[in-house]
Amino acid sequence: MSKGGVQSGFTLDGGSFHFSPTLALNPEHIELEIQLDIPNHGFLGHCTTTIRSQSENSELTRTIQFNAESFYSILNVSSSPIGIKSYSYSGHSLEINFNESIPNSDQEFISIQYIIFNPISGLSFSSSTSNQTPNFVVSDHETERARYWIPCIDHPSVRTTYSVEISVPSEYTALACGKLISSTPTTPKQFEIPTFPSTLVSNTEFQQISTKISQFKLNSSQILTQYLPEFTQKSVPNTDESFSSTKTENESKENEQWTCWRWELEEICPSYLFCIAVGDFVKAELKRASTRNDMELEVFAPKLWYDANTLHCSFDSTGEMVDWMFKKLGRKLPWNKYFQVATGSGIGGAMENISLVTWDDSLLVNESMRLERGWIMDSVNVHEMAHSYFGNAVVMKGFAHAWLKESWASFMEVVYAEEHSHEMADSYGILWMKREGYFTESNAKYKRPMCCYKFDSSWDMFDRHLYPGGAWRLNMLRHYLGENVFWKAVQKYLDQYWNETADTHDFQRVLEKHSNVSLEMFFNQWFYSPGHLKIKVQMEYNVIEKSIGIQMEQIQMKES
Ligand SMILES: [Zn+2]
Repeated sequence: MSKGGVQSGFTLDGGSFHFSPTLALNPEHIELEIQLDIPNHGFLGHCTTTIRSQSENSELTRTIQFNAESFYSILNVSSSPIGIKSYSYSGHSLEINFNESIPNSDQEFISIQYIIFNPISGLSFSSSTSNQTPNFVVSDHETERARYWIPCIDHPSVRTTYSVEISVPSEYTALACGKLISSTPTTPKQFEIPTFPSTLVSNTEFQQISTKISQFKLNSSQILTQYLPEFTQKSVPNTDESFSSTKTENESKENEQWTCWRWELEEICPSYLFCIAVGDFVKAELKRASTRNDMELEVFAPKLWYDANTLHCSFDSTGEMVDWMFKKLGRKLPWNKYFQVATGSGIGGAMENISLVTWDDSLLVNESMRLERGWIMDSVNVHEMAHSYFGNAVVMKGFAHAWLKESWASFMEVVYAEEHSHEMADSYGILWMKREGYFTESNAKYKRPMCCYKFDSSWDMFDRHLYPGGAWRLNMLRHYLGENVFWKAVQKYLDQYWNETADTHDFQRVLEKHSNVSLEMFFNQWFYSPGHLKIKVQMEYNVIEKSIGIQMEQIQMKES
C-alpha cells in the first residue's frame, strides 16, 4: 500500500539499526543479594552470574561485557573456575577479561560486589520521615533499565533464571518474581554508602578506591580519610559530625529486626521482566481461578493509603480473567503465582513483570469509582495478563518485534470487552477510542512499519503505532482469516514458541501453516510497510435517474 522505509520524524538523521546480540558467553542464572538502605535510597549488592560458553571461538569467550549504568561503585569482581585477569568499568558497562578463554559448554561463575545509590532509573525509592507518605522500593525495567541496578546483558533475547535475597527491616514485605523460598531473620552487614559520588573524582581514581573498599564495615568517614585524604579535608568539613551521626545510625540498626526474603524464579526471564517490590503492604487474597486452583492470586498496596476492600474492588475480576485466557488461548496461565502490587512510583499504567505485575496506584478504584472506571481497571488487568502469553512466555526476539507483545495485549483488551458486558465500553468502543491516537501520530508525526529495526531508542518503539495501530491490524487479520482459523493458528503459535523467543516472521509462518492462506501480502502491507489504507470517496446524486454514484480511490500511494 505504500513504499517501504520510515517517513522522517520517527528517527533522527542517522538513526541506527538494532539487532539481537550473538552471545558466545550466554548468561544462564543471576543470583542477587541486596541489603536495602531505604532512607538513603541505595543498597549493598552482590550479583553472581552463571554464564556458559557456547562457542569454539576462543577470541569470543575470553571477555564479557555487562550493562551497568551509573553504578555508584563497583567494589569487587571475581570469577571461578577460570578467574579474571582484569576488569574495567566505564560508568556504562563493566568489561571482564578472563585469565583464559572459557571452553565451549563450560560454565563460569562471576561475582560482582557493588553499591547502588540514588539510581537514575530502574529502581524507585520512596522514603519519608512524614507519617503521611509510605516507604517502599519498586523496580520498573521496561525497556532497558534493569542495567541501572543489576549488572546484566540488558536485552530481551538474553534470558536467565533468577534467585534474589532481599534484606530489609522486618516491618517490610519483600516481593519478587517467582516462588518464595524463605523469609528468615537476618543481621544486616554494617555498611554505609560512601558520601562521595563517583563524579567528584576521576574515573581511574574512583576505580582504584572502589576496588579497595572490600570491607563493608568501613563507614563513610573511614573510607574518605583512608583512601582520599585530600578530598576529605577539602570537601567534607564536618567529618566528625558526619561520623557521629553515622555511629548513631549504626547503633539504631543494631537494635532493628531484619528479615531476609529469598525468592527463586525457575522460568527463564529477560532482564526487563524481572521485578522486586518492598513495602509495608496491605494484602488481599483473591478468589482463585478454576483452571489454576493451585495458583495464589494476591494483591498488595501501601498499608498507609489503602485497605483490602479497595484491592478487592480493583482486582476481583482477576480469577475469572485467568479462566478466560485459558478458554481463549488453550493454555493455562503459567507461573507458580500471580501477584500484583500497586504503588505510587510513577509506573505508567502497569507493568507485566513475570508473576509480579506492578501498577500505578492511581488506577485503583473503590466501590463507587468502580461503577465509572471499573472497565479501565479490567482492561489494564487483561492487558497485563495477556502479556503472560504474549511477551513473557513467548518473548520478542528484539524491540523490532515489540508489537508481538504490545499490539497483542491491546488486542486482547478488545476481545475481552467483546465477550463481557461492559456498559461503558464495548469492544469497538475501545478500538474506536484508541484509534485516534494512532491516526494522530501517523498523520501528524510519522509513519513507521510495525516491524522496524531502525530506531533511536527502544522506548521510541512504544508509541501509538505499537498499541492501537497494531491492535487494529490484528483485528483485521482475525476477520481476514475467520474467527476459528485465526484462534486455532494463534494457539499453535503459542505452543510452538512457548518459553522461546519469536519474531514477526515466526508469527506469520505459523499462521500461514495452520490457515493455508498466504499472508505475504497482508504482512508486507500492514507489518513491514509504514502507513495504512486511505480511501477518497466521492458521491454524486443523479436527479434524473434518481441514482447515487460512488467513486472510491486509494490515495495513500500518492502521499508516501
Ligand atoms: Zn503492555
